[in-house]
Amino acid sequence: MEGLDIFNDWKHRDCAIATMHGKETIISPLLKQELGINSVVPQNFNTDSFGTFTRDIRRIGNQLEAARKKAQAALDHTGLDLAIASEGSFGAHPDLPFVSSNLELVLFLDTKNTIEIVGHYRTSAVRARGQKIYTPEEAVLVAESWGFPDQGIILRTSEKSSRNIYKDITSKEDLKERAKKLLSPWYVRSIFIETDMRAHRCPARMESIRNATLDLIQNCKSVCPKCITPGFVITETIQGLPCGECGLETDTIKEVVRSCKKCLYKESNPIGDKVAAKPEECQWCNP
Ligand SMILES: [Zn+2]
Ligand SMILES: [Zn+2]
Repeated sequence: MEGLDIFNDWKHRDCAIATMHGKETIISPLLKQELGINSVVPQNFNTDSFGTFTRDIRRIGNQLEAARKKAQAALDHTGLDLAIASEGSFGAHPDLPFVSSNLELVLFLDTKNTIEIVGHYRTSAVRARGQKIYTPEEAVLVAESWGFPDQGIILRTSEKSSRNIYKDITSKEDLKERAKKLLSPWYVRSIFIETDMRAHRCPARMESIRNATLDLIQNCKSVCPKCITPGFVITETIQGLPCGECGLETDTIKEVVRSCKKCLYKESNPIGDKVAAKPEECQWCNP
């Protein structure tokens, strides 16, 4: 099957959304609206076994592999051949080492047509935070400064400890009570409070997942000019846009390369209509 037939085919198959934590409330409507794909959430499917942000289960492999494993597990679980999985990570921004960033990845897998398409979104607006606290009152103050109760909070005995973890704290009173309990033994001086980065407890992350899903949909709609397979996406960027002032090559991106995984066709195109880099971007004019 190829090209436009694939888009039609997708409309007649159910897509398993390999997710917990309410991500389907973001992904499903977009999938239906933009690609006409009907999605189902597998029952009794636990994605927490693939690793979580609360560090109580170790992450398997890298982010893309993790999403791939989740998608495959959802296919095995449901017997379907179309799946979507998402995976988030937090760490240093690749271009700005002192800025933390959140990278959300959404993967679409069609095993019937051997298609895998990925969407991404990176932002510095979603930050994982954590610190020591010494009193229940301090727990409430810190939590509220992070956006609690909309933003979820986790309490634990220490940053490294995986015992006595309190998640799903819903109210100020509840938070105070649990902090009090953790702080109660005579030998405990401080406990650790951190943001719950699971999607349903982190509104900012939900927004990132939405943007990654939009990127995925755009990538699905981009078809290879040669074999018409969906997923003709940017795989490489080429630097060297000449400076408007001195004409020498700069580090600014000159062209993007899109490629097709199916027939391996590649196409290089200028990025936007920018013909020259500004002297501010030039390492010769502005060293
Ligand atoms: Zn192709
Ligand atoms: Zn220059």
